[in-house]
This record gives sequence, structure tokens and C-alpha cells, in this order.
Amino acid sequence: MRISSLRLHWVRIPFHEPFRISSGEVSLKDAVLIELQADGRRAGEKVTGWGEASPMAGAFYSAETPESTWDFLCKRLALEMLAQPERSAEEFAVWLAEIPGEPFAKAGLEGAVWDLHCQKISKPLWAILGGRKRPIPSGAAIGLMATLEDLLDRVEKFLRLGYRRIKIKIAPGHDVALVRAVRQRFGDIPLMVDANAAYHLKDALVFEELDRLGLMMIEQPLARDAISEHAELQSRLRTPICLDESADNLKSISEIIQLGSARILNIKVQRMGGLWLAGQAHDAAKAVGIPCWLGTMPELGIASAQGLHLATLPNFSFPSDVEASSRWYADDIITPLIEVSKDGYISLPDGPGMGYQVDAAKVSRYRIRQAEFCA
Ligand code: MG
Repeated sequence: MRISSLRLHWVRIPFHEPFRISSGEVSLKDAVLIELQADGRRAGEKVTGWGEASPMAGAFYSAETPESTWDFLCKRLALEMLAQPERSAEEFAVWLAEIPGEPFAKAGLEGAVWDLHCQKISKPLWAILGGRKRPIPSGAAIGLMATLEDLLDRVEKFLRLGYRRIKIKIAPGHDVALVRAVRQRFGDIPLMVDANAAYHLKDALVFEELDRLGLMMIEQPLARDAISEHAELQSRLRTPICLDESADNLKSISEIIQLGSARILNIKVQRMGGLWLAGQAHDAAKAVGIPCWLGTMPELGIASAQGLHLATLPNFSFPSDVEASSRWYADDIITPLIEVSKDGYISLPDGPGMGYQVDAAKVSRYRIRQAEFCA
């Protein structure tokens, strides 16, 4: 295919409630949307593909920010793509995978490439990625709350909404007692915790106590680079460790597998640098019998939907962190919005690409900056 133009739309949508984890918080969701155009099959026809690069503002959740992503897209990726605009979707994916750094920018651009490819050949994204269409179970993630009562209220609300599991964020001093309280009030629900790398191996006692509380998994207890320490901790626990921040590239995933640092992986398309590399991460885990699930940064509708298509691959076997559009955001830029059924599943709409439509009026309503590049 031949790319004729690339547009960037930086959008900003308020969160309903601040997104708060052990390292910081944010109340506005930024994303850079990428709109690619190519010639269609008939003369004069244009085909459009959409992607989303979705780092959180403030650099507390990832080193990449909306500003760094915007700059990398404008100053490097857009120019290099349009300098050689005629390539297959797979050639574009290989080109992006070989560029070091800025995984969000690359994931957004690659998402747009795959969507464009799907639109051109009228196929759903899951089919191109090698998945099988199925409803994806959704889990609710609850940030650090101001009080225990707030936390228990949230757990109750999300159980009522049908979510397939509850994940609560923990931090030193706010851990075992929270889980005990949730267990006491709600019994044997599917429950997990996420520490976002806030602990050290010397805190192993906390995890030994959590180990007695029947959790599905303990997500990223130690630092991102503490791969061998995770192996040590995992050997002391019955509860599976799930690595998230540490599982951010194929090299670290192979190290995790080799050392036995985790029994579950959280795969995030944005952090891996695109659907193509995230698919390879899934395959590497599958080859050694490590189940995974699809995480989120969290993203707006385009990146969430594309991730859900990837989550139709067979080794994504735990509920995803992708929730309903209305869970975090005051609005979203796709139609229909992502919805979770009463029994906790997200069903992908039919149609080419991601199945959802991008709502141009909402893109312009929430846009704070734009740029256009032509071949
Ligand atoms: Mg996590």
C-alpha cells in the first residue's frame, strides 16, 4: 500500500476520577491519534486507518510522555514513513520494530498501519493478527483509594457491574490489611493485587502474608529491573507472580522465562511498541506454557479496541485490564463506546479493522494540537 498522508491529533479527555498508583496520579487522559490515508482499490477512492499513541502525562507511569511521543512522531516517524511511503503492512511493522525507544509512538503508528491494511482488504483486525473472534473477559482495576470504605465501595460497584475479576493497587503500608478487608467483605471473589514495583526483596514478609489470601496473582511486586529478585520471591510463593513493568521487551521476557521470575505475563501493546511485537511476546510465553493477559496504560478507545483484537489470541487466558470506555473517561472518541456485558465480557463489533468507528466530531472537540504530513 502507498501512504498518501499522515495526520496527528493530540486529544485530551478528563478522567472521572484521578488515576492514582504508588508512584503518582493524573486527572486528564492525553493521547496522540494517528490518521493514515492511502489510495483505495478504485480510482479516486481513499482509505483511512487509525492508531493511538497513548502515554500518560507526567512521566510517573512511563518514561515516555505525550510531549516526547508527539515530537518523535513529528520529527522522525512521520518523515521516515513518508520518505518511503509504499510498503506492505508487515514491512512497516518490521521497520518500526527495529527503531529503538519511544514504544508508544511506534505502537500508535503501527496500529494505524494495520487498521489501514484491514480497511483496504475488508478484514477484521483479529483475523490479520491470527486470533479467533471471541468475547474478551474484562477485569476491573481499582487505584489507591483515600479510605478503606472507598475501596470496599468500589469493589462492590465493579462486582455488581459484572467484571470478571477485581484488581486492587497496593503500596507499602497499604497492602495486607486492604486485601484482608476485601476478602472479609466479599469472600472468595477472583482477586489480585498490583504493586507497580513499589517493594524490595526485604519486604518478602508482606508477600508471604498475601500468599495466604488466595490471590489469582501478585502483579509486579519489585522493581522493573529486579528480574532475578523476582525469581527468588516467586520460589517462596505459591501465588503466581505476574510481571508487567519488567515485561516490556522481548529480551526481558526471555530472561523472565529463563529465570522463572513469573508464572503469568501482562502484555501491553503500547509498551511493547506495537501489535506485532506484542504478538511475539504472546507467542514466546505460549511456547513455554506461561499464560498472559492484555494490559492497558490505560488507553482511549482506538488502542483499547486494537488491543482487544490481539487478546483473541489463544494464550491470553486471564481477564484483560481493558474496561468499559465510561470506566475512566468522561467520554471517548470511538463509536460505539466499549461496553462490558452484565456477565463481564467485551464483544468486538463486526466490520473491517477494529470494528469501532472514530467519531470525527469528538476528535475535533477534544483536540489540543494537530499536524499534517503529505507524501
Ligand atoms: Mg500493572
